[in-house]
Amino acid sequence: MILASFIEHHPHFTLHNLPYGIFSTPTKSARAGMAIGNHIIDLSKLFELHFFDGLIDHNVFQQQTLNAYIALGQHTHLTVRQKIQQLLTTESTFFQQHHTAFLFQQGEAKMHVPVQIGDYTDFYSSEEHAANVGKMFRPNAEPLLPNWKHMPIAYHGRSSSIITTNTNIKRPHGQILKGEDVVFSASQTLDIEIELGYIIGKENPLGTPVNIDAADSYIFGAVLLNDFSARDIQRWEYQPLGPFLGKNFATSISPWIVPYDALKDFLTDAPNQTQEVLPYLQEQNRKNFDIEITFEIETKDKQKSTVAVTNAKYLYWTAAQQIAHHTINGCNLRIGDLIGTGTISGKEKSSFGSLLELTWNGKEKIKIGKEERTFLQDGDTTILSAVCKIDDKQIGFGEVRNTIIE
Ligand code: CA
Repeated sequence: MILASFIEHHPHFTLHNLPYGIFSTPTKSARAGMAIGNHIIDLSKLFELHFFDGLIDHNVFQQQTLNAYIALGQHTHLTVRQKIQQLLTTESTFFQQHHTAFLFQQGEAKMHVPVQIGDYTDFYSSEEHAANVGKMFRPNAEPLLPNWKHMPIAYHGRSSSIITTNTNIKRPHGQILKGEDVVFSASQTLDIEIELGYIIGKENPLGTPVNIDAADSYIFGAVLLNDFSARDIQRWEYQPLGPFLGKNFATSISPWIVPYDALKDFLTDAPNQTQEVLPYLQEQNRKNFDIEITFEIETKDKQKSTVAVTNAKYLYWTAAQQIAHHTINGCNLRIGDLIGTGTISGKEKSSFGSLLELTWNGKEKIKIGKEERTFLQDGDTTILSAVCKIDDKQIGFGEVRNTIIE
């Protein structure tokens, strides 16, 4: 139990979670912090107070990204977690004397993209999502393409436009096919994709694939990921090379990285695979994270509805399979790389992970308060949040909120 009663309970930011983020306050620039309750622990300040003496020898927390800290490795990350848990649960003169210097209210902080993301890869790992897209756009063919159950399909995304919560998104313009005419227009079918993102915490040398049994150890932690998508731009441009301008204008991630050490208690059995895969993709135990993700829309005049609730445990391809496949040709992952799972859809309509599926390509309207939507309108705010629960243990990802502007 947390000793300081002024740290109010927050259902996401419990003692078991201790996620990492980069924050700034009105009088001090961006540095590393950890969320607890409604507060942030300033890790850079703790370093200055010699809290990490003997463990970390230079102030990696006084940087605008977590990459240098992540590079210190799993033993250090685990020890830091244990020391912080001890700090919050054991009476000490250190806490009494210094807490006003290293604790900040979350409400007074601005959150930043927490890592320098070198490369961003987006997979397509949900069978239900891939099948829904197939049914919509290839109604007379098999929903899944022949390669889909043999390997996790992916494309390389763009990292320069990765943003975090409270960043507005300007509606993209581009080439769109309208009837028989090619026109230049604002996207009329702006969509979201509910995804989970993995932050890579360890590097494999160029030319050396990651073995699937060791793949989980390459995950530093996870974030929520909203892969904004302009469906009309995407539909006209994607053949034959795949997503480009319909995707690379904004990808939003949640500001707190939930560490693997907190997430591993929420592993659950992944779905059985119905096609035998090559040995490099075979797993002894197929596990997914049991993370319930909620998607809400809030309109300009503050009407708000839950639009979908899905779960990362539905994914057909696991994180380990994604990493093993990504590196099987010798491709090297680097610290801070972002791996998206792809849109996560469940079997029920209420668990579909995009407006494309929820409205069946704009044919069926959804209700937001008293308003109706097919795709996003200017002034709409998208909100992703997520929780993991098992017995009396609970953690969460906080929120990632973004507003569409003209
Ligand atoms: Ca995607």
